[in-house]
Amino acid sequence: MDSLSSGLACPQDFSDRRKGLTAPHRTQMHEPSKPQQGPVARMLLQWLMRPASIAAVETLSPHFRSIVLEGDALKGLAWTMGQKIQIAMGSGLSARTYTPMSWDTEKGRTKLLAFAHGDGPGSRWASGLREGDLCWFFGPRRSLDLSAAKAPIILFGDETSFGIASAFRGSRLADDTTYMFEVSDAAETNPVLAAIGLGRATSIVRSAEDAHLAAVEAELLRLAASAHFVLTGKASSIQRIGRALRAANVARSRMSAKAYWAPGKTGLD
Ligand SMILES: Cc1cc2nc3c(=O)[nH]c(=O)nc-3n(C[C@H](O)[C@H](O)[C@H](O)COP(=O)(O)OP(=O)(O)OC[C@H]3O[C@@H](n4cnc5c(N)ncnc54)[C@H](O)[C@@H]3O)c2cc1C
Repeated sequence: MDSLSSGLACPQDFSDRRKGLTAPHRTQMHEPSKPQQGPVARMLLQWLMRPASIAAVETLSPHFRSIVLEGDALKGLAWTMGQKIQIAMGSGLSARTYTPMSWDTEKGRTKLLAFAHGDGPGSRWASGLREGDLCWFFGPRRSLDLSAAKAPIILFGDETSFGIASAFRGSRLADDTTYMFEVSDAAETNPVLAAIGLGRATSIVRSAEDAHLAAVEAELLRLAASAHFVLTGKASSIQRIGRALRAANVARSRMSAKAYWAPGKTGLD
């Protein structure tokens, strides 16, 4: 769900509402992601969401930006790797979902890696951000469940998965995780991967009718004997690889999967 209304039923969003929501935040800062709906909806959403300021934004390539969100509302929250945040977009009750790469609960800081794939609200938000901007978000909330994940890990994904992969790098599983990504433009993504410490990841370039997935499957099946598979990114790729792994007798308990996007759809989670 990309609608922020999906968060209204979530009790944890009520728990520390309005934490850090101060008058200076609301009046002095440029707020590119502040919802523009009517007064009642706006009041409700501001009651439920947390504000953050953009402490840093770095353009890693034409389509990738790393973004640091900061604020009192980010302090003391329970975050675990794999969780998501949903950032309110410029108009309507809509949000786009991103995966924290890290979360410093003492300093009240989290870092995201956004892939601006096109012209959707999330892509425009990431491309247009400036240091000092304000945004509003739900979360962190449950998403990719990694509770059963045991080393060795094989993480498969795409450009939208670089953030979760980076989170793995900072975890106890860092030394025992292998990364494999399907990408559209390796000349762009390889330097981005190197910049976030994933220079040893394997990238496989997409080809017509997903023919490249045969190579991904072959490589993953070669490693299938003992690994736990974390599958993220494009829904149809996850489905196909999941099927291939199950056909090779990989138990479902050795797979954690979360689709991050699908052609023609918005807000899968
Ligand atoms: C749990 C979760 C965690 C996520 N974490 C991240 C993250 O850390 N970083 C990140 O960059 N993204 C992440 N995503 C994916 C991101 O939320 C989507 O790509 C989102 O659709 C982008 O919003 P948009 O407004 O730019 O495009 P939308 O308006 O949502 O999409 C418009 C259309 O663009 C196409 N599209 C969407 N995403 C892509 C894509 N990646 N590549 C090619 N075409 C696409 C689809 O056809 C879609 O219908 C995550 C998604 C989920 C569900």
